Amino acid sequence: MNSLLNESDWRHELDWLDEQGDAMLQLVEKLANINSGTFCFDGLKIVESCLTHEFSKLGGDLSILESRPQSSINSAGKMEQRALGDILHISKRSATKKKILLCIHMDTVYSKEHPFQKCQWLENGYLNGPGVADAKGGLIVMLYALLAFEKSPLATNIGWEVLINPDEEIGSPGSVHLIDEIAQRCSAGLLFEPALPDGTLVSWRKGSGNFTFVAHGKAAHSGREFEKGRNAIVAMAKLMATIDQLNSTSEITYNVGNFQGGGALNVVPDLAIGRVNVRIKTVEQQNQVEQQFADLVSLANQSDGISLEMHGQFSSPPKPISPGVAELQLRIKKCAEILDQPISWRGTGGASDGNKFAAAGLPNIDTLGPRGGNIHSMDEYLIPESLAPSAKLVTLILLSFANEA
Ligand SMILES: [Zn+2]
Repeated sequence: MNSLLNESDWRHELDWLDEQGDAMLQLVEKLANINSGTFCFDGLKIVESCLTHEFSKLGGDLSILESRPQSSINSAGKMEQRALGDILHISKRSATKKKILLCIHMDTVYSKEHPFQKCQWLENGYLNGPGVADAKGGLIVMLYALLAFEKSPLATNIGWEVLINPDEEIGSPGSVHLIDEIAQRCSAGLLFEPALPDGTLVSWRKGSGNFTFVAHGKAAHSGREFEKGRNAIVAMAKLMATIDQLNSTSEITYNVGNFQGGGALNVVPDLAIGRVNVRIKTVEQQNQVEQQFADLVSLANQSDGISLEMHGQFSSPPKPISPGVAELQLRIKKCAEILDQPISWRGTGGASDGNKFAAAGLPNIDTLGPRGGNIHSMDEYLIPESLAPSAKLVTLILLSFANEA
């Protein structure tokens, strides 16, 4: 990175952000009080219109795009398609040579029926609420970092694209095609999943894959013609036990997470479904698992009267610390030094859209949102005083790109 920025290049923008903490917090609270669970389409619509209003202040080209439907295997073992919410996309100065991607999701893991629906203040001054950290806080940090950046005369040197998707919490099946497209047009990615409570950012991430196995056997009366039946549950149980045993042999984890099958007890069951989540650290491990599963399926298909299919894939490949990521880490460290913010890094087993952007060739840092914790639980909280500092760091990162363009 070129020697970064004179104080005159950032003082005005960052001072402005220092005054925005309350406004940022109000917006986070407003958004978190609207349920936008992945399949809560009316709530997603309200969040989308609120974001459309706020992000149009940036003056880019804003469009609302349709997601592709999610395909999954239903409890009858059949492929089923499910509609997903809309995607918000904004692009500014698309003709410039250097473009930065900024991305975060608007969906949460909390459905309309979930008991966790509204924000409340905790005694320690933290805000407890659905999605306050993951990732409504991140949406607002992204917005304010861009608002501050656009005040700078340096801004005209680079372009940016914002992607706000409605389906990250289920693995972004409806928006991954845009992730692939945008990755080709941009040179670095900033994503706004929450930072850890102490401000630590995520460096590498494991990859994640969901696999569904469907076993078909042959139904028969358990009293009259038991010998004519072929038990799909037993075949699936053996397969799941074999997959579970793979856990002891490597650092790859295999979680048998869901099992369905059977009905009346006097019927030999002819259908069973087993679902497995696998986490890997390297592409070699990914290849290894794919081979293991292919072998297990072909072995199971050799048993008399049983047919077994596998669906699914590694939708989030592993995200290692590539040279591009290391360069971004260094840039962020230098920007954080200007702000006197100490930065530390750690890896995690959790996947995010950062994995998908990385797999599509775009180096990115994906925890630039505010500090928070206990996400995906009713104890989820946001540390409100981290909102403005997080935005300041991102504005500086953007200015550093603009300064060398
Ligand atoms: Zn998230």
